[in-house]
Amino acid sequence: MNFKLPTLLSAVAIFAFSATTFAQEAPKYDYTEAFKPFFYPQTGTETRSASGQPGYKYWQNSADYQLNVSLDETKNEITGSAEITYTNYSPDQLGFLWLQLDQNLFAKDSRGNAVVPLSGSRNGAHGEAFDGGYKIKSVKYDGKDVKYTISDTRMQVDLPNDLKANGGVAKLKIEYSFVSPQYGSDRMGVQETKNGKIYTMAQWYPRMCVYDDVLGWNTMPYLGASEFYLEYGTLSANITVPANQYVVASGQLMNEKEVYSKEEINRWNEARNSDKTVAIRPESELGKNKPTGTKTWKFKIEKARDFAWASSAAFIIDAARINLPSGKKSLAISAYPAESAGEKAWGRSTEYTKAAIEHYSQKWFEFPYPAATNVAGNEGGMEYPGIVFCHMDSKGESLWGVTDHEFGHTWFPMIVGSNERLFAWMDEGFNTFINDLSTEAFNKGEYYHKQNMGKMGSYVLNDNYEQIMVGPDNMKERSIGVLAYFKPGLGLGVLRETVLGRDTFDKAFRTYVARWAFKHPTPWDFFHTMENVSGEELNWFWRGWFLNKWKIDQGVKAVKPLNGDYKNGAQITVENLGQLPMPTTVEVKFKDGTTQLVKLPVEVWKRNTEWTFKVNSIKEVDQVKLDPASIVPDVNAKNNIWTSAQATPVEKVNLKAFTGIFSTKDLPLKLTFTEKDGKLYAQATGQAEFALQYEGNNKFTFEQADIAITFSADKKSIDFSQGGRSFKFTKE
Ligand SMILES: [Zn+2]
Repeated sequence: MNFKLPTLLSAVAIFAFSATTFAQEAPKYDYTEAFKPFFYPQTGTETRSASGQPGYKYWQNSADYQLNVSLDETKNEITGSAEITYTNYSPDQLGFLWLQLDQNLFAKDSRGNAVVPLSGSRNGAHGEAFDGGYKIKSVKYDGKDVKYTISDTRMQVDLPNDLKANGGVAKLKIEYSFVSPQYGSDRMGVQETKNGKIYTMAQWYPRMCVYDDVLGWNTMPYLGASEFYLEYGTLSANITVPANQYVVASGQLMNEKEVYSKEEINRWNEARNSDKTVAIRPESELGKNKPTGTKTWKFKIEKARDFAWASSAAFIIDAARINLPSGKKSLAISAYPAESAGEKAWGRSTEYTKAAIEHYSQKWFEFPYPAATNVAGNEGGMEYPGIVFCHMDSKGESLWGVTDHEFGHTWFPMIVGSNERLFAWMDEGFNTFINDLSTEAFNKGEYYHKQNMGKMGSYVLNDNYEQIMVGPDNMKERSIGVLAYFKPGLGLGVLRETVLGRDTFDKAFRTYVARWAFKHPTPWDFFHTMENVSGEELNWFWRGWFLNKWKIDQGVKAVKPLNGDYKNGAQITVENLGQLPMPTTVEVKFKDGTTQLVKLPVEVWKRNTEWTFKVNSIKEVDQVKLDPASIVPDVNAKNNIWTSAQATPVEKVNLKAFTGIFSTKDLPLKLTFTEKDGKLYAQATGQAEFALQYEGNNKFTFEQADIAITFSADKKSIDFSQGGRSFKFTKE
């Protein structure tokens, strides 16, 4: 799923933060707490090795599906049957099975609907009044009716005899139907276009819950925010739709000759040999043939944990070859309506898809599916094996961004099958991290904006959010963007750039993907793997970044000439104030303009809260700066720098001249400046006031929240900046 920050909301979130930091005293750094041993809740087991790899008795169950389904276009109704072959490789006999009935999220009385606040939600069906949820016609086990119980989005099937351990096979057949919501929790739905509806179908058949060695049956209901945890298997689908519609889906099309014309098949063959996009069904041919009746499209995908499809008479279709590192080929395909066509929009979708898949395959693990299809629908962006749905209105950079993100999900969670319902950060966060590298690589950085990691501290390391480790259903909806995407993504960036180094990180991360490809890792398997492969102790980082919401704050405390004379060298004291330590990089700049870099390993902070070291030189020090590359998200940049001019007093100032009320058209709040006891205070609408520090030249700061306010010479307007964002306010 994708997540975009609306500019306005993010700005307001930053403002709100300033009041809370002001009110709170940061706890002091405790090195025994940060580095204490026995971080892991348990030692290695038969199924999960302490080294981070699957244990020698690792097992997981499998689920193969034969899906037959037909679409009723007038009612938006899906009617189908799912034949499931479920193999129990666990060492346990199973007296019952659990399945996921995700469509029941859209039933009126669902738990997911019950947790939608009055202010609305991205999840659910946006208040659409319709008869949502599964209608189950029959459930058969080994060909006979069997007892089943439905509870919200789950179905429990009681077995007449226990399913045998270590390879017992259960055969289930379920007949069902449901009416599709128009807006299906931003993950599936129906979109009207001028040439017909686009059906983007997902969570459309009963899926097995995962039975694992961690929780047994994973039966948490689908409430909307948390995604999925699914078993691997081979999935085949026969999809019957009106004959004028074109179907794209997960995996390989098995009956090309029955559904495409000779001419179209020739174009497919051309696309299979072309690095340039080839039109399969160009816009000029939309609506040309209007066959009546129905057509059945047959698809098959292996080593997959899910299956999705899309169908429409409105589809323009194009494709190009994907070249994989092993020499194998796959196919990038795009399906979109005329409204989305053009080089500025979906006309480049296939190019984006091909580039993303080729990059990730080269960098991390080879793409395992015969096709990667990008479909324009009404979802912001949603991922499935071999097919993704992105919004039909996306264009240019945003279409690249969402396409790259959704196909990035091929690696997390389609290949590495973590438990999304509990640990969204293991797919969204890891994906956000790899997206940055992919965007840098795409077309010589066409859409790349290098993020200033050093500036993100006050935004992501913020008491307003819960911890990363809690699930999406256990955090405020507004926290999900930070805690599932940006903060874990940034965490991997920090690990790569600052803690481990690129080569070491990449080797460990690649090992994690290879070890857990098509398996079910836990966070601990990831942590163990990163430590074992890199050889570094990282418990302090996992503890601070993922389990707690510790802050990074290091500072330059003092700079002195050694024994009173720089000819003897310089003596520098740095301190670790935040609870989360970091390796420290110190840039020493001398009066002659030359610089020297000093790197302190994180071990310095294992038994110290401040550290004094000598710089060998004979030159006078002009400036000392921490993190000169700005890659450490320190929450307080102000104390990262010491300058020889620091002690110089600033000019006297008449604070009364700066008072007044300022507003901006960009934000729904005002800033009021008042003078009390020789200090200037600022207050944003509805928030606590905070005292400003005068820096000279009409500039004030509030360092705890990284706020800088510069008044114009006539004091009629201000430039307000915080965490890298700026706004212009004018006096009322
Ligand atoms: Zn996502």
